[in-house]
Amino acid sequence: MDIAGSMNITFTADIDHLVGHRPSVLYWVVQPGSNVGGIGAGLIRMVRPWNEWLIVWGYDINEPEPVIDHAAAEQIVRNLIGDPALDITITGTSLWGNNEMYATRLQKGRVFAAGDAIHRHPPSNGLGSNTSIQDAYNLAWKLAAVIRGQAGPELLETYTAERAPVAKQIVLRANKSGREFGELFTALGVMDARSEEEMRAQIEERKAQTPRGEEKRRAISAAMELKNYEFNAHGVEMGQFYTSTAVIPDGTTRPAPTRDPELYYEPSTVPGSPLPHVWVGDARQTFSTLDLAPSSQFTLFTGIAGQAWADAVPDVAAALGLPVAAVVIGPGRRYTDLYFDWERLRGVDEDGALLVRPDKIVAWRSMTGADDPAGALTAALRSVLSRTT
Ligand SMILES: Cc1cc2nc3c(=O)[nH]c(=O)nc-3n(C[C@H](O)[C@H](O)[C@H](O)COP(=O)(O)OP(=O)(O)OC[C@H]3O[C@@H](n4cnc5c(N)ncnc54)[C@H](O)[C@@H]3O)c2cc1C
Repeated sequence: MDIAGSMNITFTADIDHLVGHRPSVLYWVVQPGSNVGGIGAGLIRMVRPWNEWLIVWGYDINEPEPVIDHAAAEQIVRNLIGDPALDITITGTSLWGNNEMYATRLQKGRVFAAGDAIHRHPPSNGLGSNTSIQDAYNLAWKLAAVIRGQAGPELLETYTAERAPVAKQIVLRANKSGREFGELFTALGVMDARSEEEMRAQIEERKAQTPRGEEKRRAISAAMELKNYEFNAHGVEMGQFYTSTAVIPDGTTRPAPTRDPELYYEPSTVPGSPLPHVWVGDARQTFSTLDLAPSSQFTLFTGIAGQAWADAVPDVAAALGLPVAAVVIGPGRRYTDLYFDWERLRGVDEDGALLVRPDKIVAWRSMTGADDPAGALTAALRSVLSRTT
């Protein structure tokens, strides 16, 4: 069910004089009415620089749906941009609703749901597409492995276990971010303004050399600080952690965050974590560890002292009928730890091993070498893949 009304209006207009000197993809605009419905404030979004645009504007969900013909759309665009004479051509309009809904079960029998269908939220935080793509990454390799007979069907149940918590997290975060624009409107003093003039006077007051002006500046600064949770929330975007039978715990827990976990992503290789990005390579070419673990295979990372793990990989892969590749990181090898970041982040000894799933999630790790690397690796893969035979 919709909880707030929004509209998209696409148009062409030359507003270079307003944005040419401060190029951006998104411009947030505080205008009379921009706290009603919508996504927290008025939004002007660049489609093509600098004459093709999309605006997002809100309407009161408790009122009948507005009829947005071209004349009404032109008026809304001119009001939002603040130029009553602006020459514009409307190219499209549509109404849509904000939601705060997430699914707790993503599979029923042979049917799997992904994307916006399982996490419905406003575009705040820009989490929609990337989370939807992550759903697909999570599901695709599991479906492929089961269909090819490389995994037991129980593997498919880990899709809900791993992705439903992410759906909940982003739906709640995006809605909270939208609502937190309210702090800015309160700080500016526009919530109680009864007319456009009063609203403008309230906004102007932030410039005054008075105690109220000072108080307002402090409140605006605090409200803007909150917006970091929308625009700089790297922990929300990248700090996902999975718990399921497709991940083998090693008895360790995730390191306690040293900074705000919503704002800061702290890489880790505790099984269930995304593989950390590190630049490796040689004097001529650099690679991200993320690109060395492609979606078509399992990838085992080790160091020079862990060569026995790498040597075991071809036989294990052949015996299980599964694509598995090894990456050895160290000087003199194809992938040198260029900035010593891998040693800092790998979380295991040089002779240890990290097993990474096709969706770039650490499935299992061994802190050190093993007496029987092939046996240990086979047992890990069989467990991750729910293979009982
Ligand atoms: C204004 C706005 C700004 C956004 N900004 C960002 C952003 O900055 N970053 C970001 O990551 N995300 C953003 N998003 C969110 C992003 O667009 C969505 O999360 C993403 O498109 C969801 O992908 P999806 O494949 O799950 O669904 P959709 O893209 O909606 O695809 C579903 C498809 O299914 C089709 N369909 C529906 N019913 C049927 C049927 N019965 N039979 C056949 N086909 C059907 C639809 O036509 C559609 O093509 C934004 C969204 C909006 C509205």
